[in-house]
Amino acid sequence: IMVTVKSKMQDQVVAQQNEFEEDDESFFQDITCLQDHGVNAADLKKLKLAGICTVRGVQMTTRKSLSHIKGISEAKVDKIKEAAAKIINPGFISALNFSCKRKQVFKISTGSEDLDKLLGGGIESMAITEVFGEFRTGKTQLSHTLSVTTQIPGANGYSGGKVVYIDTENTFRPDRLRPIADRFNLDQNAVLDNVMYARAYTSEHQMELLDHVAGKFNEEPGIFKLLIVDSVMALFRVDFSGRGELADRQQKLAQMLSRLQKISEEYNVGVFLTNQMTADPGATMSFQADPKKPIGGHILAHASTTRISLRKGRGELRIAKIYDSPDMPESEATFSITNGGIADARE
Ligand code: ATP
Ligand code: MG
Repeated sequence: IMVTVKSKMQDQVVAQQNEFEEDDESFFQDITCLQDHGVNAADLKKLKLAGICTVRGVQMTTRKSLSHIKGISEAKVDKIKEAAAKIINPGFISALNFSCKRKQVFKISTGSEDLDKLLGGGIESMAITEVFGEFRTGKTQLSHTLSVTTQIPGANGYSGGKVVYIDTENTFRPDRLRPIADRFNLDQNAVLDNVMYARAYTSEHQMELLDHVAGKFNEEPGIFKLLIVDSVMALFRVDFSGRGELADRQQKLAQMLSRLQKISEEYNVGVFLTNQMTADPGATMSFQADPKKPIGGHILAHASTTRISLRKGRGELRIAKIYDSPDMPESEATFSITNGGIADARE
């Protein structure tokens, strides 16, 4: 009896895996298919303008947010949600299927093997990775290096892909990518051509750009692999000042981070954020070893899957430390900043 039970279970597992593979193909399912379930084309266009382009995107958005989209009534929201549920089962999956889904996760090299090792292979897709550190610790240099390394096919069938770069501090230098491309034997202009760049001027603009990003990712499914925001907090710091605006700032920040998280899962891309530090006035009074901490508070701390702190070492050496990760131990790696981008520290 046990044997038949077991073989039945095995059949079930195979069936589930097949089912999953079908779901796999529907990963980037465009909302156009909702038309087959009675949603009209004009409404779908409205959703797309709001940056919701995939069926998964519909499932990731609350009814309340959907009803805030111009021209989408509550009755329409119900219809859209129902149609989406018919295409992708919104409920539970087995841990086995989830494990299959996690196989789509890829890692992007930082240019330094030691730093990659620290990160368990590199910058992970379907997750938010945040680096923070004082000025000149290499956050922007790492962003430039990742703009190139993302394009290199890598381990476990990773195909390489394009990058979106949102720059809030006007420190992106396209020509900085050229020597980095040379180091990896890539064509300079091809590398630059694969990086979509936008300068954000206000925190609102930064949020609006994410709608365009979602549109881009949807237009070219599977082509983009990394979204960089350097730096995530700079404009929030300017736009909201003083204690009086802190609650408002954190609310807007939470909305933006939730958007970033959804984009990373919806399109299977990595999200790489840089962040600044501030002196913590409370900490200087205590016995804390490092009184400086990343800004953004608990909201950013919880949104980031992996947090890395950077500090200066001798010369061009920098030390990275895992700060907060669900599956990585807290440890350190040393790397160097070179003309060819981030690299292992030389002896
Ligand atoms: P901030 O907080 O001011 O934005 P950051 O952490 O972004 O700082 P980066 O601009 O990434 O810092 O790093 C600056 C460091 O990178 C400097 O030490 C600089 O010497 C080094 N650097 C910049 N370009 C090169 C290059 N072409 N070759 C070697 N090192 C470089
Ligand atoms: Mg910088």
